[in-house]
Amino acid sequence: MKNLICQKCPNGCNLALEWENAENVFIAGNKCASGIVYAARVISKDNKTRIHAREETPLFSRETLKAVAGLWQVRLKKLHHNIPVQGSPERSVFRVVLEDNSGKFFLLEQILPKSLEHKRQIATTLDFLAKNNLARIQPYMADQKGEFIRKHKNNFWQIIPFVRGVTLDREKYMYEKWRAPALADFLVELRRKSGYLPFLDSCKVFSLKDYVYKLIREINLYNKDIKDEIKDIAFFLEKDFMPAYEKLPVAFCHGDYHPMNIIWSADDIKCVIDWEFSGFKSELYDAANLIGCVGVEDPQSLTGELVNSFIANMNKAGFISKTSWKYMVEFIVALRFAWLSEWLRRKDSEMIYLEMDYMRLLIDNKNSLQKIWL
Ligand code: SF4
Repeated sequence: MKNLICQKCPNGCNLALEWENAENVFIAGNKCASGIVYAARVISKDNKTRIHAREETPLFSRETLKAVAGLWQVRLKKLHHNIPVQGSPERSVFRVVLEDNSGKFFLLEQILPKSLEHKRQIATTLDFLAKNNLARIQPYMADQKGEFIRKHKNNFWQIIPFVRGVTLDREKYMYEKWRAPALADFLVELRRKSGYLPFLDSCKVFSLKDYVYKLIREINLYNKDIKDEIKDIAFFLEKDFMPAYEKLPVAFCHGDYHPMNIIWSADDIKCVIDWEFSGFKSELYDAANLIGCVGVEDPQSLTGELVNSFIANMNKAGFISKTSWKYMVEFIVALRFAWLSEWLRRKDSEMIYLEMDYMRLLIDNKNSLQKIWL
């Protein structure tokens, strides 16, 4: 028996690995299938070792999961602990793919009690948008009383039909032009279909500006080694962008729109997932996050066909004001503070310095990027 801490997300599950023989290992303690992928990477250097999840996990028995699925009239036939699930594992306490008696697949997730209200709001929003005919989303399932979240023995659960996708090739995708219209169409449709969301308070607007300043204050206190570099970046933002920030139009945004939060088919978007940060934000938010995330994979792609065609499609739709477009580079830089915060939280020095290099690259190339994009 060997124990391993999974480092794929902050949950840090304690993985127990038990060798049946040289090629077969059983895993326990993982709260999601990403733990299996992580363990395979660590122990299976020759790619010959197979890692298997047991039907019974120490976390929840089959009987428990069967009872939970039954709350939505889903009749459990088989648990698929080995099927990896896209989207950040830290959004739930535990998640597993299951198959029902008719061969349909579902994703069952246990959620933290403290996130109940937030999760309910996300489920209500997705349900509303789906009823408003927004395509490429998958709403959570409601039980017979219309509840999206159910309690079972002190634990809270939600369930959603499981969508399988084609794995994104992270070496190539950022140059694939065909993805651009789909990425732009989704944002345009989201804007059209989210103009009226009666259950959300449109006065509650996330301020990226406040977020950046708060993080800078924390960096000045706890990360003194990078505070000078951050001061330079803040200086760039303070020239024009920060004073203009409040004037930028606001819209309902996905909040974490990037290609890894999308389940892709071979030629289109199947489903946009992970709505954890959705809400009212500056209208540039999703477009800027997308471009920033594509560019961080390979900065050359910032002027590649995917990004250029995405911007052209967004421009054609005319949903983003000229004023907002003017601040695209600054907005991407400001948004990278959210990613920097994540690397600081994980104490990942390599990513912290990579992120700051990326911000610097965006700042240094602002004029040429603007010329190409606008
Ligand atoms: S939740 Fe999944 S990804 Fe996160 S630490 Fe546990 S096994 Fe790893």
